[in-house]
Amino acid sequence: MAKKTVADIDPQGKAVLVRVDFNVPQDDAGVITDDRRIRMALPTIQSILGRGGKAILMSHLGRPAGKGFEQAFSLAPVAARLAELLGTPVELAADTGGPDSHAKAKALPAGGVLVLENVRFNKGEKKGDDAAYVDGLATLADAYVNDAFGTCHRTEASMYAVPKAVKALGKAVTSGFLVEKEIQYLSDAIATPKRPFVAILGGKKVSDKIAVITNLLSICDHVLIGGAMAYTFSLARGGKTGKSLVEPDKLELAKELLAKGGDKLVLPVDTHCADDFSSGANKQVVKAGEIPDGFEGLDIGPETAKHYAAIIRSAGTVVWNGPMGVFEMPPFDAGTKAVADAVADATAKGAITIIGGGDSAAAVEQLGYAEKVSHVSTGGGASLEMLEGKAFETVAVLDDK
Ligand code: AMP
Repeated sequence: MAKKTVADIDPQGKAVLVRVDFNVPQDDAGVITDDRRIRMALPTIQSILGRGGKAILMSHLGRPAGKGFEQAFSLAPVAARLAELLGTPVELAADTGGPDSHAKAKALPAGGVLVLENVRFNKGEKKGDDAAYVDGLATLADAYVNDAFGTCHRTEASMYAVPKAVKALGKAVTSGFLVEKEIQYLSDAIATPKRPFVAILGGKKVSDKIAVITNLLSICDHVLIGGAMAYTFSLARGGKTGKSLVEPDKLELAKELLAKGGDKLVLPVDTHCADDFSSGANKQVVKAGEIPDGFEGLDIGPETAKHYAAIIRSAGTVVWNGPMGVFEMPPFDAGTKAVADAVADATAKGAITIIGGGDSAAAVEQLGYAEKVSHVSTGGGASLEMLEGKAFETVAVLDDK
């Protein structure tokens, strides 16, 4: 069901409590090395400020112990960077829903921004049901907005108990623009796909993606397999996999998926393999299931790439999670590149194309295709769980349209 967004609330003169994902990477000196997550939250923040609202922002950063303030995990550098990006002053509260947060929230003018300290400084955040902690945050809000997709698969207090409490007080709880877009692509587009619906699954392990493969097999027309996980399937069919990365304890599972998938489950027909895990190794292309002893598969072969590209180019909807090979190490990026190129072509022809987070998003960015697909998800674990068909309580709690 469609959820209300920040655009559906009137923030004029109101305090809008926004759960953002400001979990940015920092170097040893605490300097932010990539501020993308802060920039991605700007449309939601600016929408609140532009309509005369006050934005109170909360986020986690890293993994503090949950026993109070730790300098290394302070949101102070994030607040400073946000002030630069917005071009307005940004206040920082020393606590998360405590006396300082309430005093600073009360003094905040319309158009003002307040960042609360790291939610994970409080043990109540992970625990989820610490009433005093939840209440301290919920009573700051005239409305609550969830714009932290990367954390949507976790029912930590700021993600679930707080919006529930805000709702119980009769106030609006909605998604932000970032979460709205993720739901639109990772859930809605998949629920009513334009066909043919093609899934591309790669990466290291079958075991990480069992639930995704199972779910997508039940809703897709074709599920293309690449990456090292293809070798476990190959072994399950009696193929030779040399010293490739395989999961011998997942052979039965692979056999079950092969039986369940039938023609829908498409496996590589050839493999680019090498005698060492390096660019300079001795390389050869062999038929799938015929990897010689002493060699390991590092990418799908050219025939497979051609075959997969043809299927992808005629798709109506594409979902991709996991690279086709070791894309970080040329020439074993060729399969992933060919697939990315076909996904870009499909997009240009009107297909809805969705790249799951984590390594596939990194691969698409690195290879220069991020702007040529419909959607690159910002969440790793959250994106995978949504593709598994899981319902998120943190999304369910938001007001319906
Ligand atoms: P995942 O996190 O499961 O999506 O896996 C992504 C990682 O799998 C990337 O770092 C790839 O380099 C790696 N990968 C993909 N194909 C292979 C392969 N054939 N052998 C070893 N690693 C691979």
